[in-house]
Amino acid sequence: MMFKKITIVGFGLIGSSIAREIKKHKLSKFVSACDISSKHLTEIKKLKLADEVTPNLKQSMIGSDLIIISTPLSAYKEIFVTIKKFANKNVLVTDVGSSKLEVVQMGEKILKNHAYFVPAHPIAGTEQSGPTAGFVNLFKNRWCIITPCKLTNQHSKNKIKKLWEIFGSNVTTMNPKNHDNTMAITSHIPHLIAYNIVGTAAKLESKTKSEVIKFSASGFRDFTRIASSDPTMWRDIMISNKKQILFMLKRFNQDLNNLKKAIEGNNKKKLFNTFRTTRNIRKKIIEAGQDINQPNFGRKN
Ligand code: NAP
Repeated sequence: MMFKKITIVGFGLIGSSIAREIKKHKLSKFVSACDISSKHLTEIKKLKLADEVTPNLKQSMIGSDLIIISTPLSAYKEIFVTIKKFANKNVLVTDVGSSKLEVVQMGEKILKNHAYFVPAHPIAGTEQSGPTAGFVNLFKNRWCIITPCKLTNQHSKNKIKKLWEIFGSNVTTMNPKNHDNTMAITSHIPHLIAYNIVGTAAKLESKTKSEVIKFSASGFRDFTRIASSDPTMWRDIMISNKKQILFMLKRFNQDLNNLKKAIEGNNKKKLFNTFRTTRNIRKKIIEAGQDINQPNFGRKN
């Protein structure tokens, strides 16, 4: 067994999927699940995903040699402080948060001289949340990005890398700022756009709105999948990665404005060239194994 006791704080989609992998690969003698949602605590017990299920973090982390944080980002500060006060000295701490620079700075400040910290981010998930939404193989063939910090040493990094490799992920290392920059354009702004377009549709007068739903297969429904993601999680990501998101948003707005001008000026060449370039990006994504080469994501209808 790799660990004696693992504490998973925040036992939702990601935390419970990690627990399923830990159980499947027998990576720990004991798993403690800590969550604040009483509904989720009942579900975790029913699913038999942990040896101990508790809303009390202090109790959950007693004797743990690994603490995995998989809560929304706004809960981190309090969790770091509790780890500092009550966890084993030099405990190994890791997380799965979608934004990294702020997390790294906060972790370094609070956990200094108390814990090893290996920040990580699995590029895997769905729009659903909670422990019943988790599943084995969620992380298989997906990237996991480790963003080492001042509290990461070679030994702790290797342990977390090994863990994700056992889950079937391809592990890579990035610095936190590069991570946040890349995620701003590949994940955070796409979510913001989806929330915005679905929000605009929601405010339309009711006759148009019912037609939007009726004819949604023409493109709109793909945005609704993303825009149904957990509101707490995405609120926190937008605030935590504010700087990079606002920087990318500025560029996005400039490009959108240029497209608007091209439509106003009947600039067919500009429109065609832009749309042709984006088609090539899709080809590259398929070549990189990030999606399947089937029309309409392989949907049957
Ligand atoms: P989730 O399904 O909503 O699970 C989070 C769980 O943490 C919920 O049960 C939540 O309870 C609980 N929680 C909130 N505050 C807590 C606290 N202080 N102590 C203990 N538990 C607490 O969310 P998720 O999708 O697993 O996401 C968790 C983390 O993974 C986020 O930081 C996110 O950025 C990251 N992530 C998500 C994805 C994805 O696609 N979903 C992918 C990669 C990384 P309540 O429901 O009552 O708030």
